Amino acid sequence: MDHKDYVIDTMISAKSIAARVEELAREIRGTFSATDKLVVVGLLRGSFVFIADLVRELDLPVEVDFLEASSYGNAMQSSREVRILKDLRGEIEGRDVLVVEDIVDTGYTLHHVLNILRTRSPARLEVCALLDKPSRREVDVKATWTGFEIPDEFVVGYGIDYAQRNRNLPYIGKVRFPKKKA
Ligand code: 5GP
Ligand code: MG
Ligand code: MG
Repeated sequence: MDHKDYVIDTMISAKSIAARVEELAREIRGTFSATDKLVVVGLLRGSFVFIADLVRELDLPVEVDFLEASSYGNAMQSSREVRILKDLRGEIEGRDVLVVEDIVDTGYTLHHVLNILRTRSPARLEVCALLDKPSRREVDVKATWTGFEIPDEFVVGYGIDYAQRNRNLPYIGKVRFPKKKA
């Protein structure tokens, strides 16, 4: 897919994202103890910008780890098949864990990842998702904290890609395909 085939309309500005990340960090900060070092787990790759901004607003001792779970293919469809491509480096048994996800869509990815992490007996397991598409949900899973609820649109930017492009946009935009001229 050539990038000239689509346009990106701004949905959430960089300024709005920054303001919301600050609020989220404040809410999260209030529920964790400063004495137990929190393990913040970013789900690669889409959450890498969000987790970077979030941990810098989080006034807590944190460890940062990453996990890559992937659905098959890189098209605009979510898949029910979820694989762990890259596991955590650290142990989470008895630890407070905050999973950071870019988008909760059908919910399969988060559901699967939480089930795996739960088997490792963390003391606490919470989720902060930047975006939520509640109208798309197929499994009953919800983030503890959500940045923005959005409609059923395919979005890019702020870490989120379309076929590995547009992750570096500082805002969230929706992808639109203009009608081809004859
Ligand atoms: P789920 O398993 O909840 O259906 O899908 C979650 C994952 O699908 C997200 O973490 C993200 O990687 C991908 N996804 C869902 N909606 C979108 C979207 O609008 N844009 C992009 N680029 N990826 C999406
Ligand atoms: Mg994701
Ligand atoms: Mg993707």
